[in-house]
Amino acid sequence: QSDIPETNVDVLIIGAGPAGLMAAASFAHLTAIPSASPLSVRIIDKRSTKIFSGQADGLQCRSLEIFDSLGFADRAWKEANHMIEICMWNPDATGIIQRSDRIPDTIVGLSRFQQIVLQQGRIERFFLDNIQKYSGGAIKVERAILPTSLQIGEERVKVTVRKLTEEEATPPQATTGSKSDVTDGLFRSNLVGDDYEDKITDAKGGEEEVINAKFVIGCDGARSWTRRALGPEFELQGEATDFIWGVMDIIPFTDFPDIRMRCAIHSANDGSLMVIPRENRLVRLYIQLKEVTPDASGRADRSKITPELIFGAAQKILRPYKIDYEYCDWWTAYQIGQRISPSFSHPSNKVFLAGDAVHTHSPKAGQGMNVSMQDSFNLAWKVGLIAKGICHPRILDTYQSERRRVAQDLIEFDHKFSRLFSGRPAKDVMDAEGVSMAEFKDAFLKGNLFASGLSVDYGPSSLVVKSGDPGELGDRSVRSRNLEGVCRITVEEFEVKQSLAKGLPVGMRFNSFKVLNQACARPWHFQERLKADGRFRIVLFAGDILDPAQKQRVKVFCDKLNSSNGFMRRATPEGAKIDSVIEVLTIHSAKRTETELLRDFPDILHPFDPHTGWDYNKVFVDEESYHEGFGDAYKNYGVDKEKGCVVAVRPDQYVGWVGELEDFEQLQEYFEGIFLV
Ligand code: FAD
Repeated sequence: QSDIPETNVDVLIIGAGPAGLMAAASFAHLTAIPSASPLSVRIIDKRSTKIFSGQADGLQCRSLEIFDSLGFADRAWKEANHMIEICMWNPDATGIIQRSDRIPDTIVGLSRFQQIVLQQGRIERFFLDNIQKYSGGAIKVERAILPTSLQIGEERVKVTVRKLTEEEATPPQATTGSKSDVTDGLFRSNLVGDDYEDKITDAKGGEEEVINAKFVIGCDGARSWTRRALGPEFELQGEATDFIWGVMDIIPFTDFPDIRMRCAIHSANDGSLMVIPRENRLVRLYIQLKEVTPDASGRADRSKITPELIFGAAQKILRPYKIDYEYCDWWTAYQIGQRISPSFSHPSNKVFLAGDAVHTHSPKAGQGMNVSMQDSFNLAWKVGLIAKGICHPRILDTYQSERRRVAQDLIEFDHKFSRLFSGRPAKDVMDAEGVSMAEFKDAFLKGNLFASGLSVDYGPSSLVVKSGDPGELGDRSVRSRNLEGVCRITVEEFEVKQSLAKGLPVGMRFNSFKVLNQACARPWHFQERLKADGRFRIVLFAGDILDPAQKQRVKVFCDKLNSSNGFMRRATPEGAKIDSVIEVLTIHSAKRTETELLRDFPDILHPFDPHTGWDYNKVFVDEESYHEGFGDAYKNYGVDKEKGCVVAVRPDQYVGWVGELEDFEQLQEYFEGIFLV
């Protein structure tokens, strides 16, 4: 019998970088979902504090939509620098760089957000504040704690952890020895007033604890301990290239005209440079280092790389323009490589890996932090709703099938993009060695859709009713199961259903257009109503509710929803509010001023609560607003204005099912496959 103290927890998150913090925040937001006992979540990190500068900085549209569903996109949006235009610079006939093209940074009309840049430390700050607010202090990052063993049992996963001393928890910092004598950045403050260190280690360290968790999520970065603890079959597979890149965050002095634009610069013979204008007058330079090459083992010696070497390379690429700096905020160097784990989850579905722990690639497309956060955003609500006894454990299979495919696409995209970016520009069409600048621009334009995070299209599963390939399950030797409960429908059936809402592709995120609240005429971006609080949603496009025949169709649908043996009442725990696990939101197309909320819409669409009265925030109209234009939602969602349709939406805003108002039985089947009804 060991005297190491033991504790039980529902979820243990290992690692508090962007992926771990996203998981913790998502769990914190599930507090409104009823359950017999509150969800217990712990998050540990081996470092003694968060990071303060450097590392990832790009936030794509989809990440901002997710931040908004958690309630802090406004903080990032205000503080960040906004990426509006990309300028391409290429050598002219005499070999001198010149501006050859300008393209919009984010495809116009894709999202209500555009790409922005803000350093990772600030994103971590927003997460920490959000977790504190929504968990009421119950979830707090426990720092300077290192896991030492992991055993997967029948019921729980046993993880032994050890407290570190402050010295152990603070990684060594390299100094540049350069002008601003900056460290390699991990613990520097970033000129921002409301950020602070939250060191909570005691100097002693050494105490051990056994944490018995129902679920473990490994978000511990590229050198993941959790991944290694699961065994060699989870090791990252892939390759490193010969391209070495340096990164510097500086405040530049320069005569280069586009220093406040995002630029892709290919020099004739000195390599390539990417310019990312940042917050606080900073500019990030990604610089190809032609002077450093990998040795016979394929690895480059990073100790030979100094800020002077990196900056010298930048000065050469930018010639004849001049660039210098006084202040450097952070710098690093890396070798481009694309690697992915064969599996993102243990076959027991008790241990999962997310973020850099399962995929690494070059940082230039600004994807690392985004895709990592989106992994754990995809996973956390599934784990949370299962731990609360609300959803069927089969939905956990979709984590691997959905996210590994995204990571695979990212690796392929990055592979192509990195090579085009790192290659020498072609001198003419016969130059087989060089990169065609037309091809590069084309890749950039196509890449912009991918890089926005909005092209993600999940395959058929228990959560997504569509035809097609259910998605790969990873290495068969690691996983022998098949996706359970996949709702397969034929291609023909699917085409008919999808045609009811052409602008809401099943498997993709619910796009946003403005609608007005029926009760108060306030305009809302509809996506703002799809909060990440763990609830599924039924969006009822009620059509022309003033037409008697249509009103009758809506009534029949609502009667079924409201019936005691319908899925909605059966999925809702005894005594809980009817909208506590599935919320119904309505958008109608009749004239607002001729429509009355209480007269024209069945009660289930604006439920009555004895303490708070009618709910005035669930019925919306597709109409022009007084001050904020017209969202034209029915047209943009591709829905018939007379007849409408019904859409089921997952807690992460992805469309799961589309059907007619008469397809209630199919909708019931969809939810019965997900909920423990
Ligand atoms: P991480 O951010 O790596 O977080 C992992 C967390 O787990 C850390 O807090 C770590 O302390 C903790 N941890 C690790 N091991 C353990 C353990 N055994 N026990 C407990 N805790 C543990 N991306 C870009 O887009 N642009 C860039 O320029 C860029 N530059 C980068 C430079 C560097 C030096 C690094 C390391 C990364 C860079 N990235 C960049 C990548 C980006 O930071 C990552 O993609 C992103 O942070 C991934 O998030 P994550 O949460 O999966 O992992």
